[in-house]
Formats: sequence, structure tokens, C-alpha cells
Amino acid sequence: LVRAVNAIKEFGSTRVLDGIDLEVHRGEVVCLLGPSGSGKTTFLRLINQMERLTGGRIWVDGELLGVEERGGRLHVRKDRDIARQRARIGMVFQRFNLFPHMTALENVVEAPVHVKRMNPAEARRQGLRLLELVGLAERADYYPSQLSGGQQQRVAIARALAMEPELMLFDEPTSALDPELVGEVLTVMRDLADSGMTMIVVTHEMSFAREVADRVVFMDAGVVVEEGDPEQVLRSPREPRTRAFLDRVR
Ligand code: ATP
Repeated sequence: LVRAVNAIKEFGSTRVLDGIDLEVHRGEVVCLLGPSGSGKTTFLRLINQMERLTGGRIWVDGELLGVEERGGRLHVRKDRDIARQRARIGMVFQRFNLFPHMTALENVVEAPVHVKRMNPAEARRQGLRLLELVGLAERADYYPSQLSGGQQQRVAIARALAMEPELMLFDEPTSALDPELVGEVLTVMRDLADSGMTMIVVTHEMSFAREVADRVVFMDAGVVVEEGDPEQVLRSPREPRTRAFLDRVR
């Protein structure tokens, strides 16, 4: 579903991603691990086109992101085309980024109605179903400030799902939560993985990576250092850099 070939990102003269090659297949759950500053967030932002590649290419579902090939040359895609590509990808961030002046349900319903032009009554039905999926049906009319961090993060997941994405990106979705709230968010993510959703998850939750990921990818300094079966990589990493990182976080 996702294929990155030699993905490069520079901010000014700083090279943050130094040629990432990565494939994620449909239905696969891939956990991205690595020290702070290794470029994990930047990679997710490239897939979601919140940033533009400096070099290399990324395909999602066979389509080049941001550009298209016509007559043997690359052309920048039109904004509307990029919006269409982005609408197929859901993203959940570290910090809850719900609209504070909208209830949980209004947050979930907003994009389907305004971006997808879904019928409001239908969007509401879907929204309630999604809130139920994340265990928050009875909180539909609460505002974000009336919800715990874990509940807000579950609303954020429901909101991303409301666009019926084919790919979900998670950027350390539990790292801003109080420890006792982490589990409820990971449970929702695990259910989503079990339902067959394709997911790329940046996380420091090693037990989640071990139990849920089909594959873990360890990044450092803008490159993929090692990837493979979670059990193998987490238990007996081949690369010294992976081992050093795992020793630090465990
Ligand atoms: P963390 O776990 O701390 O989020 P990360 O692995 O996700 O780390 P990134 O957030 O992708 O790393 O950042 C990689 C590097 O790119 C960092 O050194 C960061 O300072 C730099 N960087 C990220 N965004 C920008 C930007 N907009 N302008 C300049 N530098 C940036």
C-alpha cells in the first residue's frame, strides 16, 4: 500500500531523512521505533503530505504522492488532487488536536460533512457508530475539555476513521498521556489492527510493538537501520545502534 524509495527530506541544509526505503503492505501494522530526532515524525508527515519530499518518491496505493508522471516527466499535482490523496490517510498526533468548541460527535462528523459532503444525518449515524467503536458512545455530547486525555485521543481516532481511510498513521499517540490512560488507547489501536486496518505507528510502547506489529522498523539519523519481525528485532537486534536504543528504553 505504501512504498518509499530513497525518500529524502531536508530542512534548509539539514538532512533529516537520508534515503528511506520502506514498504508497507495492505493490512500490515508497522511500528516505527527510534531515538528522538531520528526522523520518524517527518516520515509520517511526508506520507500525509504535510511536508514535501526533497528527493526520492513515495507511492500510496500505486499513486505517486504530490507529483504525477505525464509524458515521461514529473508534474506537481493540483491542490485538489493532493487533497484527494490526503483524504485516504488518517492521522493521529501526539497531542490531542480536537476542535475545542465542538463536542466529540461534532468533531467526528466535521470532515465527512465538509470535506466528503456526506449527508449530515448519515454522518451522525456513522459518527455515533465510531464513538461506540472507541467506547465513547455515552460521551458523544461532551466537549474535549470535559474528557480525559485518553478519551480525547480515542475521539481523535474515531475522527480519523470517519473519513474511511485506507491507511492510518499514529505519531506517538500515547506519549502525552498519564500512564493509567495509555492502555485504553492502545486497546482501541489493537482492535483496529485486528480489524485489518493498515497502520504505521510511531511508538515507544515496546509491548504494543511486540504484540501488535507485524513488523518493526528501527530508524536512526534519518535512515532505516534495521527492520524485521518484532520478536526478533526486539529480542535479538542485529545492529549495535538498535541494541543501544532498546537498552535505553527498556
Ligand atoms: P521525536 O521522537 O522527538 O518526535 P522524530 O524521530 O519524530 O523525533 P522528527 O520530529 O522527524 O524526529 O525530527 C527529525 C529532525 O528534523 C529533528 O532534528 C528536528 O529538529 C528536525 N525538524 C523537524 N521538522 C523541522 C522543520 N520544520 N524545520 C527544521 N527542522 C525540522
